[in-house]
Amino acid sequence: MRTAELFEQKPVFSLEVFPPKPDADESVIYDTLEQLSDIHPDFISVTYGAGGGKNGTKTIQIASDIQNRYGVESVAHLPCISLTKPQAKEILDRMQECGIENILALRGDITGDAAPGDFLHASDLISFIRERYDFNIIAACYPEVHPESSSAVDDLKWLRYKVECGADHLITQLFLDNDYFYAFREKARIAGIDAPIEAGIMPVTNKRQIERMVKLCGVELPKKFVRVLEKYEHNEEALRDAGIAYAIDQITDLIADGVDGIHLYTMNNPLVAHRIYDAVQSLISVGVSCT
Ligand code: FAD
Repeated sequence: MRTAELFEQKPVFSLEVFPPKPDADESVIYDTLEQLSDIHPDFISVTYGAGGGKNGTKTIQIASDIQNRYGVESVAHLPCISLTKPQAKEILDRMQECGIENILALRGDITGDAAPGDFLHASDLISFIRERYDFNIIAACYPEVHPESSSAVDDLKWLRYKVECGADHLITQLFLDNDYFYAFREKARIAGIDAPIEAGIMPVTNKRQIERMVKLCGVELPKKFVRVLEKYEHNEEALRDAGIAYAIDQITDLIADGVDGIHLYTMNNPLVAHRIYDAVQSLISVGVSCT
């Protein structure tokens, strides 16, 4: 099923996982997927390392297994920064052969060692896919503005361009202050971007993880969040519980406000995903029956 069709009954609730490292025990991801599929999410997306290589093969395999073994809709991510057009075609052909219908088309982060490819921006990949395939296309967006953008206006201009090129549905970068999301969504609608916008929520369960995210994504840490982090940073269990509670609070507010969907960055932690889902399950059902 094409994810864009899921929003006829919002809010959508989806999950994200990443493939195991090349030398890791593969059975772990399958245990994780087994537990996540009990949640009956609307879809599960699988990340893809921007450098391509073997990790990409795993993305396709896992996305295919999510559909075929666990009966859950899947989305395969695809960053294009170091791909040539023939390589992109080979990957997309393979995704099509595996029955994958949904692709999250991305640029990927620019790192010094990545070889340049034929695509400069996600919009180039989106156009490439739209001209040749029938995939449902998803794109990324940034409530706190992409770190490389010179302004919020510029970022929105390029986001609208991604939708004009063929993106059917958008998923946000994680944010910890819902006001950024509400302001961004309003400006996006005023700019004529009418694709469904899912809110990306990451339950923060350890301090190193959030420090890395803040550095990479330029996400602001609200005062209320910093207080929690400082209070519980040396108690793993307490920090995990506080991170879960914080995510539940964010999701509750977003659903009450009529968000199109929640995309939970699970960090491959089924326990955390279950605790969050259990807490918001009834809110999601009420949202669906109200539409
Ligand atoms: P783009 O849309 O190309 O935007 C990048 C910058 O260029 C922005 O500043 C934008 O305003 C500007 N821009 C966009 N289009 C144009 C244009 N046509 N001309 C000029 N400027 C333009 N990375 C991975 O490597 N693997 C993953 O699996 C992955 N999954 C992600 C999932 C989500 C939901 C999100 C939000 C991000 C994910 N990322 C992933 C990270 C992503 O690759 C980075 O954030 C990257 O820096 C930007 O990707 P993008 O697709 O938004 O790029």
